Formats: sequence, C-alpha cells, structure tokens
Amino acid sequence: RKRIGVMTSGGDSQGMSAAVRAVVRMSYIRGCEPYGIYEGYEGLVQGGDLIKKMQWQDVRGWLSEGGTLIGTARCASFRERPGRLTAAKNLILAGIDALVICGGDGSLTGADIFRAEWSGLVQELISTGQLTEEQCAPYRFLTIVGLVGSIDNDMASTDATIGAYSSLTRICEAVDSIFATAYSHSRAFVVEVMGRHCGWLALMAGLSTGADFVFIPEHPPQPGWEDNMCKVLAKHRQIGKRTTIIIVAEGAIDTNLQPIKPNYIKDICSQRLNLDTRVTTLGHTQRGGVPCFFDRMLATLQGVEAVQAVLDATPDTPSPMIGINENRISRKPLMEAVRLTHSVAKAIESKDFDKAIGLRDPEFVE
Ligand code: ATP
Repeated sequence: RKRIGVMTSGGDSQGMSAAVRAVVRMSYIRGCEPYGIYEGYEGLVQGGDLIKKMQWQDVRGWLSEGGTLIGTARCASFRERPGRLTAAKNLILAGIDALVICGGDGSLTGADIFRAEWSGLVQELISTGQLTEEQCAPYRFLTIVGLVGSIDNDMASTDATIGAYSSLTRICEAVDSIFATAYSHSRAFVVEVMGRHCGWLALMAGLSTGADFVFIPEHPPQPGWEDNMCKVLAKHRQIGKRTTIIIVAEGAIDTNLQPIKPNYIKDICSQRLNLDTRVTTLGHTQRGGVPCFFDRMLATLQGVEAVQAVLDATPDTPSPMIGINENRISRKPLMEAVRLTHSVAKAIESKDFDKAIGLRDPEFVE
C-alpha cells in the first residue's frame, strides 16, 4: 500500500482543507494510505507528531472549512540541505515516498528541489549511519505532485488557483458594503486588495463591482496618470454617479516601478476633485471565510487527480502540477509553471509589461 503524505504550505487559502480531504479520501479509494503532514515543511523537518496517518473520517466536514486545518508555516530550515536531509529521514521512517503539496510557487519549488536531491539525501543518510541500506531500499525515488493553493491566482499554466475565487467573492462582498455607505454620503473610496505582484484579484474585483478605476501591476499607468484618472472620475460624476470606487492591487506600480499607494490616490481625489475620499484596506478578511462553490469543486477534482498522478508517476516523468485549463483539470510540468511564473515577475522588473500580461495568459495577448 502506497503511503501518500499531504501537506499545505506557504500562505493559506480557502479550499486548502477541501484539497486535503480529497487527497485523503481518494487515497483510500485507490488503496493507498494517506498521511497528513502538519505545519507545512516544518512538519517534515520536525517529524514526530506532525506526521500523522489520516483516517477517512478525520477530514469529515473539511469541504466547507476556510484556511487549512493541517496548518501551514514558512520553514527556513527546509530551504537548507541539512533541513531537507532530516525531512528525508522522517519521511522514510514514516514509510512515505509520495508527497502532494498544496501551496504557492515557493512551496512547489522547494518540493521539486527535494525530489531532485532525493537520491543524494538517501545516500547521505546511509553513509552517515542514520539509516541502513535495508531501510532505504524501498524509497529509491520521491514522487511530488503540486496543487496550487493561493488567493492571488498568480501561477502561470493554470487558469485558477485554489482560493482565488473565494477571495474574489470576499472582496466583492466588501466592495458592495462600501458601495452602500459611499452612495449615502456621495463619497469616494480607494480599496486596496491583496494579490502581491499579481493584479488578478484587483482586475476581477473591478469588473465584478463596476469600479470606476483599477490599478494593477501588470498594466502600470503612464506618467501623468493622475490627470487621466481625474478625467474619468469627473466624467462619471458628471453623468450622475454618487459613488466613486477605485480598486488598487497591493502590488500596483507606475511605469517607473514606484508603488502607487492608496493614500496618494486619496489625496488626488480629495484635492483635485473635491471628493470626500476614504481608504479601505481589506486585509486578511480576503483570506477568510468558507470556500466558495468553485474552490470546493476545484480542490476536490484536483485532489482526486493528484492521487492519480502519484500512482502514474515514474522516476523519469517531471513532477506534475495539477491545474485547470479551459474548465478541464490538467497536469502540467511543475517547474515549467514555476519558471513561467517567475518570468512574469522578471518581465515586470524589466518594464516589459506587455510580455508580463502575455506570460500570464498568452491567449489574452493573441
Ligand atoms: P505564497 O504564494 O502564499 O507566498 P509560497 O509557497 O510561495 O506561498 P513561500 O514562503 O515562498 O510561500 O514558501 C513556503 C515554504 O516553502 C518556505 O517557508 C520554505 O520552507 C519552502 N521553500 C520555498 N522556496 C524554497 C526553496 N527554494 N528551496 C527549499 N524550500 C523552499
């Protein structure tokens, strides 16, 4: 019976627990034994109670839980080889040679490095007398399967990450609430949303709430954008709007890569347009609450696919990342997806903004 470890790592997102549930349940359906690795890579490095066999009923009710019930953490020691050596030892002692990891690009990169080093780590465990040849013999290679859990929807090669649509739902609810008070007082609101270097949440929130203006990192406004923004906002007021909603991604920048701060936008609106303007930073409520329908469905279908991918793995196939493309669950080479994701950041750093948008979604540019 194959033992599959399942863990969540990096920033939490809604639907991570649903993904763990799907991996646990599908493992049983396919005759495997699932193990929960608690607190992300910290659990791998510390071992002991943080690596636990999970029963079918342990994940009952997890489909509708927010965040991750097996915990997540940032683990500095896993970034270093000695930490990964201890992690390898703990996995072999627990009899686990396959890991399904739900996390962001950092977590998935760490996983792939671990897999690439695996045989060297096992050799070192034997040569240093920490484990015997016999103990290590069944663990010749490590299977890694990635699920992308992130509210930011910032991973290339997949249309959606687990948590992004729930977060978008939270943002829309919050903007709707703001809209009511903005209307009452005829105010302007600058709403800062998460997304790190990715503008997906801000852009989609802008579309879904009918915002007046949106700032995203991939499409920085040209110098003098203040004039353009004021023109647009003034026009909207002239045609009778009582509200002004501006959505700003936390990573919003101008063409010189300088951050565009909500308070600066507020000052422009107040001073140039004489609008009573407030700033609202939505903060961690965007990560909270229950997963929406889409994330429950995505996490479940991807968890099922992840177990299948573990069973299909050979030493020669690259680690897969489970994604969704055009409404179909997909398997993509994990490191290719990570490489593309990093190329987006590099394109933005080198001010090649069209390339950044193209890399996120090649069809969008075509
Ligand atoms: P989020 O997108 O929410 O930030 P993430 O997975 O990208 O999620 P990181 O903090 O980058 O979050 O990574 C989570 C953990 O993965 C790190 O604390 C570390 O333990 C491990 N990790 C990340 N990058 C590496 C790496 N290059 N080598 C080894 N381990 C890594």
